[in-house]
Amino acid sequence: MAKLYGAIEAGGTKFVCAVADEELNIVERISIPTELPAETMGKVISFFEKYQLVAMGIASFGPIDINSNSATYGYITNTPKVGWKNYDFLGTLQAKFDIPYAWTTDVNGAAYGELKKGAAKGAASCVYLTVGTGIGGGVVVNRQVLAGYGHPEIGHLIMRRHPEDKFGGKCPFHKDCLEGLASGPAIEQRQGGIKAYEIPQDNQAWKIEAYYLAQACVDLTVTLAPEKIVFGGGVSKQKQLFPLIRDSFKTQLNGYVPTPPLAEYIVPVALGDDAGIIGCFLLAQEKERER
Ligand code: ADP
Ligand code: ZN
Repeated sequence: MAKLYGAIEAGGTKFVCAVADEELNIVERISIPTELPAETMGKVISFFEKYQLVAMGIASFGPIDINSNSATYGYITNTPKVGWKNYDFLGTLQAKFDIPYAWTTDVNGAAYGELKKGAAKGAASCVYLTVGTGIGGGVVVNRQVLAGYGHPEIGHLIMRRHPEDKFGGKCPFHKDCLEGLASGPAIEQRQGGIKAYEIPQDNQAWKIEAYYLAQACVDLTVTLAPEKIVFGGGVSKQKQLFPLIRDSFKTQLNGYVPTPPLAEYIVPVALGDDAGIIGCFLLAQEKERER
């Protein structure tokens, strides 16, 4: 019988759960709204109960505790999301299914999926940045998702402000960090409430947006020197951003270190909305092999 793996991409608005075989053929996939933990996790468990899984990969919204020495390893920690603060996500599943688990952030899951099967295929390292309602970043180094005391929070890189930008930033913690200045809601607030997808492609708003995303790419280049920087999320569907980001990156880095050719270095996602789930399956397979 085929070996089956589980995957959960846990987001603030929905949970995507899926089961696949070793070749990543999807057997079943569902989407569950993110309600209170008891309701949502009840549905997650009944979905997976139908299968005999050998391992599971979970990529969750955060912040989450991924420090295996910590007493709250496997928890969602300081989220403002009602009911989920200090919730033992991994423990709840472990109590139900005694199998190996990969546990990481939503963006690390997507970064891993893109590295193995998507825009960074063939590379050993990449950074994945999602630019949507918030900004998050996942990092793969030496083919492993990066985890230290905690996980990266690239969305909160502190930014140097664009000289023409009068918008103060909307991050409740830092005001003018990357997320505070360049998330979808930040773009919209700067433009007086116009939806990001309704702003014309030649509007100055995209130059300002590109300046911040390029600045993040410079910071990532000088700290991590990845082989690829991959952009996902709703805002990065604005394809005109990519040449603008690359131009601004060139100016801001100012030739300090060599990088891959920019058209291959700063790129859009290849797996779209599947990156996270694919990453989860691959991480689950790694966990099973480790055992
Ligand atoms: P989420 O981050 O909530 O999972 P998205 O990645 O779609 O979902 O991000 C939503 C944000 O991205 C909103 O601010 C929305 O206005 C913006 N957005 C979504 N699609 C586009 C688009 N095609 N162009 C520009 N902005 C978009
Ligand atoms: Zn911030």
